Amino acid sequence: MDKIIAANWKMNMTSVQTHKFFREFKKKDSKKRINKIVIVCPPFASLPAAAKDTKGERIKLGSQNMHFEKKGAFTGEISAEMLEEYSVEFVIVGHSERRKYFKESSKIVNKKLLSALKNSMVPILCIGENEKERKKGNAKKVVEKQLRECLAKVPEGKMQKIIIAYEPIWAIGTGKNAEPKDAQEMHAEIRSIISRIFGKDTAKKVFIIYGGSVKPENAGELGRMKDINGFLVGGASLDAGSFIKIIDNA
Ligand code: PEP
Repeated sequence: MDKIIAANWKMNMTSVQTHKFFREFKKKDSKKRINKIVIVCPPFASLPAAAKDTKGERIKLGSQNMHFEKKGAFTGEISAEMLEEYSVEFVIVGHSERRKYFKESSKIVNKKLLSALKNSMVPILCIGENEKERKKGNAKKVVEKQLRECLAKVPEGKMQKIIIAYEPIWAIGTGKNAEPKDAQEMHAEIRSIISRIFGKDTAKKVFIIYGGSVKPENAGELGRMKDINGFLVGGASLDAGSFIKIIDNA
């Protein structure tokens, strides 16, 4: 199975900084890698710069968000059609920061995911428990609930077009990544839930990537886990050198 390494730049990187990133990325990248799919998700305003810089390169573009409606009176939002103009193929849905700061429920996340599929975009669905839930021993229950709600009404045959990102909230931006064996345990659990909903064959093929304080130093060990099919990287993806090391170590 290939590995997917996706960068979530969040609200960082102006157009000027985006150009600088890709100049550096192209200089340092060995380009020898195979079996690795690299995705960069810049903020909306930097998408034109990123689209220009990645044209003809082996880097794919993703968006950090997308509205589920086609168009209309949704101030501040962006549509699939607008993203397509910049060759955006992936869209992050359900990131814990959107759930927390913008009150996005799993119901809304589900609408976004279904809309992405309808528009031939690949959703990167983020799920994960918070610290309290993990300490109470409820992590698996919380993740299963999120999965079932967010994947509701996904048509048969479409599950393979969805990437699941397991992102324990307590590991995001904290420098404290999940222990590889704990992350593996949750990834295996996610695969088994998908198997129960969509069947064994589909579950085997679904990409389940890990996110939460991934850095060049821990990418190797995490990436060797059987059910970890890559990473969603926040902070460490803002520097081209460190992002390349993560890609190489994954
Ligand atoms: C994220 O926000 O998706 C993320 C994984 O962030 P970080 O790598 O900074 O923990």
